[in-house]
Amino acid sequence: MSSEVTAWGKWDCTRCGQRDISGRDKRCPSCGDPREQHELDAMRPPDDFDAAAITAPDELSLAHDGPDWSCRYCGSNNRASAPTCESCGGGRDGTPPPPAPEPAARSSWLRRLLSHPRRWIAGVLLALVALIAWCTIDHEFAGKVVGLRWTHTTTLQR
Ligand SMILES: [Zn+2]
Ligand SMILES: [Zn+2]
Repeated sequence: MSSEVTAWGKWDCTRCGQRDISGRDKRCPSCGDPREQHELDAMRPPDDFDAAAITAPDELSLAHDGPDWSCRYCGSNNRASAPTCESCGGGRDGTPPPPAPEPAARSSWLRRLLSHPRRWIAGVLLALVALIAWCTIDHEFAGKVVGLRWTHTTTLQR
């Protein structure tokens, strides 16, 4: 009888020298350095397969994809099936990541407004005038009498 065990490999951090890091960790737990390609290549089987066995289904499917790859641009570890880096979009084959989107695109209307100070000052003044005009005219409010009560005292002369 034979059974197949999928287990986490082990790797060493070449930055701080931490040894026997579980393949589960995409970064060195000691110094936080992302696992680099040469560290992935040097990954070795665990001494104790049972202790390092992968049992969670999602982790198993990850493991069956093959070893991760390290992005040469940002250092992120990506699963083997991913053609591009999840973090920066760089390709596994070395395609550079696409340029970052313009960060100020969202506040363009604000920038446009601020670049025309005369226009928005006029707008604020107009709003102020309208507010003053609204306050000075009389307003009629529709009302409803909801309750009426009075007392009537009759003094009887005896
Ligand atoms: Zn380290
Ligand atoms: Zn990347």
